[in-house]
Amino acid sequence: MRILVLGGDGYLGWPTALHLSQCGHQVAVADNFARRQYDFELGVESLVPIESLQTRIAVWKDLTGESIGVYVGDLTDADFTYEMLRDFRPEAVVHFAEQRAAPYSMIDRKHAVYTQVNNVVGTMNLLYAIGEVDRDIHLVKLGTMGEYGTPEIDIEEGWLEIEHKGRTDRVLFPKRPGSFYHLSKVHDSHNIEFTCRIWGLRATDLNQGVVYGQQTAETVLDDRLATRFDYDAVFGTVLNRFVIQAVLGHPLTVYGTGGQRRGIIDIRDTVRCVQLACENPADRGEFRVFNQMTEAMSIQELADTVERCFPGAVEIEHLDNPRVELEEHYYNVVHTRLLDLGLTPHLLSDTLITSLFDVAKRYADRVQPEALRPKVNWRDHASPVQET
Ligand code: NAD
Repeated sequence: MRILVLGGDGYLGWPTALHLSQCGHQVAVADNFARRQYDFELGVESLVPIESLQTRIAVWKDLTGESIGVYVGDLTDADFTYEMLRDFRPEAVVHFAEQRAAPYSMIDRKHAVYTQVNNVVGTMNLLYAIGEVDRDIHLVKLGTMGEYGTPEIDIEEGWLEIEHKGRTDRVLFPKRPGSFYHLSKVHDSHNIEFTCRIWGLRATDLNQGVVYGQQTAETVLDDRLATRFDYDAVFGTVLNRFVIQAVLGHPLTVYGTGGQRRGIIDIRDTVRCVQLACENPADRGEFRVFNQMTEAMSIQELADTVERCFPGAVEIEHLDNPRVELEEHYYNVVHTRLLDLGLTPHLLSDTLITSLFDVAKRYADRVQPEALRPKVNWRDHASPVQET
């Protein structure tokens, strides 16, 4: 298949592009390098050094003989987005290209507005481009489990059958997200569902859990193929951050009681799920939702697992929760559709943690310890992350 990976320079987009290429698909990536820019803004960088996109692609070509096309541009630029689709003529578009950190979106008004404009307008341009260039293109869109929040009922895969005053209907599952970033994903989901219903587009919304891990079968072939590994309190996902804290001998920083339960997924399963979604497209007019997670764990359980597996002493520190979220709640998620398509999950295991510890140990001298402490507070309108 011809598959276009938007956000192909990012943490997940790059390994996904490699995996799809390895599976024999013709792949191109697009990116505006916004993610590298956030690092300059925040004064942090990926723990694992990453090469330029062009170098990575050249290394992949040398190793495998496979070419990956590159489009450098911004999805919020409609002309760029249309031209790219007309030029590459994809059968599937995998859309990772959004600002994806909840704390970044909660810094202040400027960052909240940027996040929603970048994400919602970029996706709108893409929907219009698909609508006008080729309605057969299957959109595979990265959403997040955070769209749902933590309702008192089981979280279904995108849709809910309800009975109300004796009548029944199938409605989009109600969403109650916890940040302006997560809200941008909810807005995207509604816009995508609308275009499936009105224009007959086909789309899969992958409501993904928190991703952990840094290596896939393809990225380990050469150091220059490495994907980024973020550990700072703005972009670092929680397990990656705990691993670094353990390696540095710092306490693992659990926000509040740590009773918050979250869906999690190994990066190797992310790339496989996207492959499965592309190779088994939604029907024309169908808005399909998969809950892309493999396990649910509380933040305290994640910290306990790291403590148990780390060969050394680990302390756990409970900080005042900078976020506004329930710390004890019901959480039961249905996630069978990707398993039905053939996903065999990697579960968070001692082995994985050991391999993550090795990555963290190798680059420990690059860690900026002050970047690990949370600075963005959900209750404030302006957090002191920025000078401006
Ligand atoms: P990332 O920031 O590393 O990658 C996103 C890429 O998109 C970056 O390279 C960035 O430069 C690019 N980008 C952003 N806006 C763009 C625009 N307007 N035009 C072109 N390129 C643009 O993030 P990631 O961790 O790889 O996440 C990818 C996707 O998966 C995101 O949509 C995110 O919401 C979703 N997701 C991630 C996680 C996770 O744990 N990392 C969990 C759930 C969902």
